[in-house]
Amino acid sequence: MPIYDFECAACGKRFDELVRRVDDLVDVRCPECGASEVRREVSAPSIGSGASGAGSDYTPPRRATCSPFS
Ligand SMILES: [Zn+2]
Repeated sequence: MPIYDFECAACGKRFDELVRRVDDLVDVRCPECGASEVRREVSAPSIGSGASGAGSDYTPPRRATCSPFS
C-alpha cells in the first residue's frame, strides 16, 4: 500500500499518510491543525539518478602516495 508525503497548506506541517484508495486522498487532513488543504509531495527520485549520471564522467584524482585509505 502506498504511503504518500503531504504538506499542510495552512501550517506547513509535513506528514505521511497511508492511502489505500485514490478516494482517500480527498479525506486527508493535517494531523497538526486539522486543515483539509494539504499538498501531496511529489517524490522525485529521478533527480538523484540524474545527478549521479552526470557525475559518472568525473574521475576523482588518484594519489599514489599519502592516501589514508590504502
Ligand atoms: Zn496543518
